[in-house]
Amino acid sequence: MIGRFAPSPTGPLHIGSLLAAVASYLEVKSQGGQWLLRIEDIDTPRQMPGADQAIIDTLESHGFCWDGEIIYQSQRLDLYHEALKRLQELDLLYGCQCSRKQIAEHPKVSMGVDGFVYPNICNHLHLDLHQHAVRIKVSDKMINKNIVFEDLIQGKIEQNLAQQVGDFVLRRADGIFSYQLAVVVDDAAQGVTDILRGCDLLDSTPRQIFLQHCLGLAQVNYCHIPIIVNAAGEKLSKQTLAPALQSQHAVANLHHALTLLGQAPPKELIYESLDHLWQWAFQHWDIGQIPVRQKIV
Ligand code: GLU
Repeated sequence: MIGRFAPSPTGPLHIGSLLAAVASYLEVKSQGGQWLLRIEDIDTPRQMPGADQAIIDTLESHGFCWDGEIIYQSQRLDLYHEALKRLQELDLLYGCQCSRKQIAEHPKVSMGVDGFVYPNICNHLHLDLHQHAVRIKVSDKMINKNIVFEDLIQGKIEQNLAQQVGDFVLRRADGIFSYQLAVVVDDAAQGVTDILRGCDLLDSTPRQIFLQHCLGLAQVNYCHIPIIVNAAGEKLSKQTLAPALQSQHAVANLHHALTLLGQAPPKELIYESLDHLWQWAFQHWDIGQIPVRQKIV
């Protein structure tokens, strides 16, 4: 069993991201597996300088031990390039010159699970892939076929990619590879077998399974845990001003994360050492206790 935590260095770690780290760590390590750390730093405009190191320091001070070297996606662009080439050879790609505005104003546009469903404006124009955004053809192949998978917590998930997502972007016009492509390539290259992450990525999973199929890669096991939202129902993030985790409160933070994960750690443990709390967590870890729905803090 190989799991991973794959933060984007867009800001410091907060309780929402700690939840995914704790859950995947306990799930994988309690079964004797390996837990990898990967910094997803390809979307350069969204990044905060120094956030990668801040995340690593926070994980360390909270007692996490990852296996092997930390991987940085920014150093693996060749791999994403290769995958794109393979998909091009399979005639699955086309260049797209549409602006957001053009897509939004197109008479046939509809709303999908993650923004607009691309109304296939450029799919027969044979535009140069190097000069434009690159999309993968979903609509032809998946029109009458749903992607179906069994999520360990969310149960059976079904999505019609053609209707709910459409031909999606694998490399943007500015040359940046998409999260969807990079994550699939890396999880396969690192031998990841079990992905445990926040429910905000549940809608992305069918795109990732589709890419795995296209690239001839093994499908992994998925488990999506509830994300933490604020009173307004917004996901905790840098944008919603989620406070950064303080290393000197590591025990309290871990205790809070375990509580939110339904593990019900005894109150007294908050006065014990970090090692002691981790020990308790490993002994009592039960993935079945994780609530299915969102938590509000
Ligand atoms: N880098 C993504 C994020 O921070 C997570 C990727 C994943 O777990 O698949 O939201």
